[in-house]
Amino acid sequence: MKINRRDFIKNSLLMGSSLLLSPISPYAKPEKEEQWRPAYEKLEEEGKLSQRVQQAYTIFEHCQLCPRRCGVNRKKGEKGFCRAPLRPVIFNFHPHFGEEMPLVGDNGSGTIFFSNCNLRCIFCQNWPISHEGRGKEIQDEDVADMMISLQKIGCHNINLVTPTHVMPNILNATRIALKKGLHLPLVYNTSGYERLEILKILDGIVDIYMPDMKYMDSDQAAKYSAGASDYPEVTKKAIMEMNRQVGELKTDNRGIALRGLIIRHLVMPNRVAGTEKFVRWVSASLPKSTYVNIMAQYRVEYKAFNYPEISRGISVQEFLEAMDWAEKYGLTNLDPQSIANRNFYRFRQSN
Ligand code: SF4
Repeated sequence: MKINRRDFIKNSLLMGSSLLLSPISPYAKPEKEEQWRPAYEKLEEEGKLSQRVQQAYTIFEHCQLCPRRCGVNRKKGEKGFCRAPLRPVIFNFHPHFGEEMPLVGDNGSGTIFFSNCNLRCIFCQNWPISHEGRGKEIQDEDVADMMISLQKIGCHNINLVTPTHVMPNILNATRIALKKGLHLPLVYNTSGYERLEILKILDGIVDIYMPDMKYMDSDQAAKYSAGASDYPEVTKKAIMEMNRQVGELKTDNRGIALRGLIIRHLVMPNRVAGTEKFVRWVSASLPKSTYVNIMAQYRVEYKAFNYPEISRGISVQEFLEAMDWAEKYGLTNLDPQSIANRNFYRFRQSN
């Protein structure tokens, strides 16, 4: 049976929002942030958003959207390292309740999962989507409709998962959605493997950057992320630029994120992720009040079974030493869930 665009959007939304019995959570508090406006709205008013869309689309002709810089012409159907076509491929979209609390709020983070990836880590938890590109190829207009649907059911933001290789499509979709009434922050949920030149195009469009910082060592990056030995240096520069654009995380009076930077760092077994180096770098290079999520949920996925040093979950001790380092280097805005985990494990160890 052929599924048309409308059915795809409807079915995806119903599947993802099955926990929401009513479109608006009964616990939602009234909006009081009349002053706040998404960055892209102001850029449109200045007449600059369409230029950015055009500028971004031109890059498809010699794709350099990410540091892999393949140079393929995606408008002519050529595919580079990420294997992404010209049109966005979407695996799913729905309100997500597993993200950081300032993104989730009462009604969830409006997440759109883009298929394919420019980094392709061997321990990827989303490997069927990122490595195999499972999903449905759609038009930018459909992405815009998804954004509007997520807004209608009360999501607090549009959370763009793995956006780097489809950035031009996202910009175009955002502009289309803006004309249909989109009024939510865009969350750029990225591996962090981003070019400065590309981030500059996003300046004034993205409100919330949420990059990973996966490794601090180029050998580890090359080994686990398809030869991306420049990942640590590239990502450090990218995060500094993101911080320059949006700064420290700001929330509304309900604690829901409106603008700013959230850095994610997944603790890996045997200190593979270089956590001490990471928190030391944040402490020295960014405000100590930068929102940092030190995550404990490493799982052995995809091809990680073939690498003995990462073929197990992390121990309690490995997570606690990561949190201790964050404290030692003076980070003051750690994710509340990671603090709760730390307190729980400390309590269990002392009883
Ligand atoms: S986005 Fe894809 S095609 Fe473009 S440079 Fe990166 S990996 Fe290559």
